[in-house]
Amino acid sequence: MRKVSIFGATGSIGQNTIDLIARAPESYDVVALTGGHNIEQLAADAQRVGANLAVTAFDARLDDLKNALAGTGVEAASGQAALTEAASRPADWVMSAIVGAAGLAPGLEALKHGATLALANKESLVCAGSLMLETARTHDACLLPVDSEHSAIFQALVGEDMGAVERIIITASGGAFRDWPLVDLENATPDQASSHPNWDMGQRITIDSASMFNKAMEVIETREFFGVSPDQIEVIVHPESMVHALVGFRDGALMAHLGAPDMRHAIGYALHWPDRLDLPVERLDLAKLGQLNFRAPEDARYPALRLARWVMERGGLSGAVFNGAKERALDHFIAGRIGFLDMAILVEQVLDRFEAGSGLIDAAMTLDNVTETDHLARQWTDDAMVNRA
Ligand code: NDP
Ligand code: MG
Repeated sequence: MRKVSIFGATGSIGQNTIDLIARAPESYDVVALTGGHNIEQLAADAQRVGANLAVTAFDARLDDLKNALAGTGVEAASGQAALTEAASRPADWVMSAIVGAAGLAPGLEALKHGATLALANKESLVCAGSLMLETARTHDACLLPVDSEHSAIFQALVGEDMGAVERIIITASGGAFRDWPLVDLENATPDQASSHPNWDMGQRITIDSASMFNKAMEVIETREFFGVSPDQIEVIVHPESMVHALVGFRDGALMAHLGAPDMRHAIGYALHWPDRLDLPVERLDLAKLGQLNFRAPEDARYPALRLARWVMERGGLSGAVFNGAKERALDHFIAGRIGFLDMAILVEQVLDRFEAGSGLIDAAMTLDNVTETDHLARQWTDDAMVNRA
């Protein structure tokens, strides 16, 4: 039996992971499941998969969790320290699927204990890529991609020498507003941005897909994961979301990874790696599909991609600034306080302010410094809002 834990078990990735694990209960011993506000789901799943421990990130929800788990034998806990403690419990395989920078600390802790960390939480790599990789190396832990594009790249690279790689192309659906006239974007609402043409995902990443902040994060994630230079990474809009990524080699060959837009592909690959086992996902019917389309992303529509290029060139803690400001700007957009296009404007202002003076971007990449930078970036996003008013 493999010992597994799932961080962010109540979310979209977490639920898909539980779906796969619950299909083969004899293979897994579930150590811990974590969630946030969705106590009902967390308690139900903890019982269903026989978890030893269930953690809610929020202390105010602990009593609810205890009540929901009364008499079940599942231990209940809450808060940041409990998340970190859960990540320190011995496990062979840990899913990192908390949304946002909150996923960083538990992921690092799991790596420190030598686990194989299946990483859906791209924010960890954007905020603290070299810290994550270094921690994995030092503790003989393994980091596997779960983001569909990065899983696709990883699969296309099996047996290949990185020296033979010329470029990596990640695809983007283009999100909810792909075909909207540019002038209409200003008035796009959170509800409109929350519907993805192809993928069924959490609300935050769905809105990030519409703004391409998600793809911007993934470009940075690609650089961190595969160690390629920024100019080797390309983004192409591919409305069907069937090709997830392509790797171009020095002989001109281009290896593409195709699959139905179902995250159980990438989660299952990380779960069973290096083997391939049966997965309950749709098989593509290419004749029925007929054609696949590709087009270059328009710079004016997707300013987030330009900001990601700046972050990659700048390095240091600029990724933590970028992510913190983006998360806060997204909070404001969801709450209806700013418009859709204001998100990129705010993030750029915060990056400029950091670059202009504080020297914080060049501080050492430690968990404390990343956390401090993240908090300050959020605060400066709020400042930028006030200055606009
Ligand atoms: P969801 O919003 O669906 O789920 C997020 C999970 O994190 C939930 O379990 C939620 O708990 C929990 N959570 C929320 N806030 C906190 C917090 N402050 N501390 C601890 N836990 C918290 O997100 P997704 O599943 O869509 O995404 C998860 C991660 O995977 C993200 O990093 C995303 O970018 C990445 N990803 C997602 C893909 C997808 O298809 N969804 C594809 C590729 C990457 P609760 O709901 O109980 O409040
Ligand atoms: Mg992705």
